Amino acid sequence: MENRQEVSAVDSAPDVAAPGVEPLTILRYGDPALSRPALPVMEITPDVVALAGRMIATMLRAPGGGLAAPQVGVSLRIITLNPAILDRLSGAEPFALINPRVAVSRGEIVDSEGCLSVPGIYADLARPAEVEIAYTRLDGEPATLRASGYFARGVLHELDHLDGVLFWDRLNLARRIWLKARYRRFGWAR
Ligand code: ZN
Repeated sequence: MENRQEVSAVDSAPDVAAPGVEPLTILRYGDPALSRPALPVMEITPDVVALAGRMIATMLRAPGGGLAAPQVGVSLRIITLNPAILDRLSGAEPFALINPRVAVSRGEIVDSEGCLSVPGIYADLARPAEVEIAYTRLDGEPATLRASGYFARGVLHELDHLDGVLFWDRLNLARRIWLKARYRRFGWAR
């Protein structure tokens, strides 16, 4: 996820990724991979662990608050999150979530949201205020992530990517048409 206020947060990027981990290309709106629902990860193989590492490197370089595997052309239910942008006070390191799903969601907050696959476009969007996400860690252990506010928004944004949904798909038709026109006019060049 990309956020207007956080674009200046380059203190967490670039080149913070582990040396030798090659970042991937982030696909842009219009690529069919972004509208395809992703498949569950059946087994956490070394390839899955390596992909998660490259996704983290890609997210940190952007820099972005989160990244989903379909954004790098891989149809698997894997997301990575960057607490340095989404949840600054936590001090937590970037991490990967395998097969994440919403276990609990509460409340609603409207806030600004953007996407690394739709650069330069931001919109206000309602999302649950608090979530609990059940997922599998890279070491295979089940885990739960509790997130609220902007962190919850970031997680839910990435989960939408796993279902082939972009943030503007959650807006009404008129707003969506306006934003797409704006992206075609200004966003593609970024
Ligand atoms: Zn996105």
